[in-house]
Amino acid sequence: MEIEMQKAEKLHVLGELAASIAHEIRNPMTVVRGFVQLLCSREVSEEDKRYMKLIIDELDRAEEIINDYLSLTKPQIEKAETFDVVEHVRHIANVLSSCAKPRNVEIEMKGDSSCSLTTNQVRFSQVLVNLMKNGIEAMTKGGTLQVFVCRKDEHVIIEIIDTGVGMTRDEINRLGTPFYSTKEKGTGLGLMASYRIVQLMNGKIQVDSEKGKGTCFSIILPQSSRKEI
Ligand code: ADP
Ligand code: MG
Repeated sequence: MEIEMQKAEKLHVLGELAASIAHEIRNPMTVVRGFVQLLCSREVSEEDKRYMKLIIDELDRAEEIINDYLSLTKPQIEKAETFDVVEHVRHIANVLSSCAKPRNVEIEMKGDSSCSLTTNQVRFSQVLVNLMKNGIEAMTKGGTLQVFVCRKDEHVIIEIIDTGVGMTRDEINRLGTPFYSTKEKGTGLGLMASYRIVQLMNGKIQVDSEKGKGTCFSIILPQSSRKEI
């Protein structure tokens, strides 16, 4: 019993340590990103521009992995704020267009403009980015990723619909389990973190998918989740 306790305590300390290292690593990464971006704005060859874009993309990928990981190990106390969902989703769609374009994916948005949400915006964005990126990555032949925002009773529903590879029932059941990924460069952290965040927001994620046809992920959130996460 005593030994078990020690083991649990050690694991806890390890988790805390990993979380603080991940947190600290973000700062130098931000500095590197800033300087590369500065170099990018100068007169450089097209080839060098391409390399710099690769550096920035990879830095962003590392940052996303750290963020997903951190939201698992250390759910921070962060403030809730009220914002317009459609406007925010549109902003995220714009940010993601740079990763959609090279894959021949268009992002189409439709939504009820009077839809507001009170929650932690950074965490909400993290879930959106994860789900939309998965949709884009699933459409190996290109296509249109549709995003719908609507309000139902006291809830906001965001549907992310792709026409990609789809999943079998077994595959759907494995979603969100630790480190489950079918991608060469995948981490399996994205959905794990997203499910956790949405759960902390008192919401849920529903999945509807057909192998070879596509997938619809629905994020259902109470309009106000004032509870701080
Ligand atoms: P990663 O994207 O790093 O693989 P995720 O946790 O985001 O990790 O997703 C886990 C797995 O779930 C993916 O590797 C993929 O097999 C499956 N998946 C998630 N979203 C979709 C989707 N829209 N269409 C098909 N498969 C998906
Ligand atoms: Mg992913």
